[in-house]
Amino acid sequence: MRPVLELSQVSFSYHLREREVLALKDVSFHVDAGEFVAIVGPSGCGKSTLLSMIAGLISPGNGIIRVDGLSPVHTVNLIGYMLQKDHLLEWRRMFDNMCLGLEIRGINDKKHQDGVRQMMSAYGLEQFAESYPSALSGGMRQRAALIRTLALEPELLLLDEPFSALDYLTRLEVGDDIGQIIRKTRKTALLVTHDLSEAISLADRIIVLTGRPGTVKCVIDVGFPEQVRTSLQRRNSPEFSGHFNRVWTALNNTECEVGQNEKES
Ligand code: ADP
Ligand code: MG
Repeated sequence: MRPVLELSQVSFSYHLREREVLALKDVSFHVDAGEFVAIVGPSGCGKSTLLSMIAGLISPGNGIIRVDGLSPVHTVNLIGYMLQKDHLLEWRRMFDNMCLGLEIRGINDKKHQDGVRQMMSAYGLEQFAESYPSALSGGMRQRAALIRTLALEPELLLLDEPFSALDYLTRLEVGDDIGQIIRKTRKTALLVTHDLSEAISLADRIIVLTGRPGTVKCVIDVGFPEQVRTSLQRRNSPEFSGHFNRVWTALNNTECEVGQNEKES
C-alpha cells in the first residue's frame, strides 16, 4: 500500500536579509492511509513550516514530499488544513461559514451542502446554522472549522495546534470529539502539537522532532488495548503514563533511548 504522505530528506531554510535560518534538516517519514500521526517538538523547531510545505504553500529547499505520489503543488485539493484560529468570518452565518471552502472551490451544490448539514447535526451544531460565530463557544467554533474542512472531503487532514487556543476543559472535550470524528470518517491525519498528552490521546504514532533545526529524533508507536477507543478513555488507561514517559524521554534526551522506536530513513 502506498503511503498517503511521504517525506524524504526534506530541509528548509528561511532566507532573511542578514542571515539564513535553517528551520528543518533531513526530515523523513511517512503516513499511511487511515493513520493518525502526531508530530511533537519544542517551540520553533519547524512544525508549522513542515505543514506549510506538505500543504504546498511553500516549497522544500531540499528533499522530496509526495502526497498520494504527487508533489504538493498538484495536491492542494486533497488537503484539509486546520489551524489554531478557527478563521470563521464573523459577518457570515454559521452554515455559510461552513460552506465557504465549497464556494471557493466552486462545488457549493446540494450534495455538498447536505453533507455539511449532516455533519452539523452529527456534531451538535444543527441549531446554530443561522447564528453568527459570536454566538458560539470556542469549542463549537472549532468543531465548525473542522466541518468546513471536512466538507471538502480531503484525503489528508493537517492539524496545526488546533486546540491550543481553547481553555483546558474545552480542549479535552473538543480533542475527544475531533479525534472520534476523524476516526469515524477514517481520515488520514497529521497533527502538530507541543502537548504530549494530546498527542498520546489521539495518535497511532508520534514523530518526535529535535529543537531547531528540526530533525526526526524518533518515531514512537502508541498502542492501546482494543476496547480503549476515545481520547478520554486513553487518558484514563493504565498504558497512558508509560507512553508519556517514552515520549518525554525521547524529547529530553540527546540520544533517543525509547524501546519502540524506528528512526526512519
Ligand atoms: P514551530 O511551529 O515548531 O513553533 P515554525 O515552523 O513556526 O516552528 O518556525 C521554525 C523556525 O523558523 C523558528 O525558529 C522561526 O523563528 C523561524 N521562522 C518561521 N517563520 C519564519 C519566517 N516567515 N521568516 C523567518 N523565520 C521564520
Ligand atoms: Mg507552529
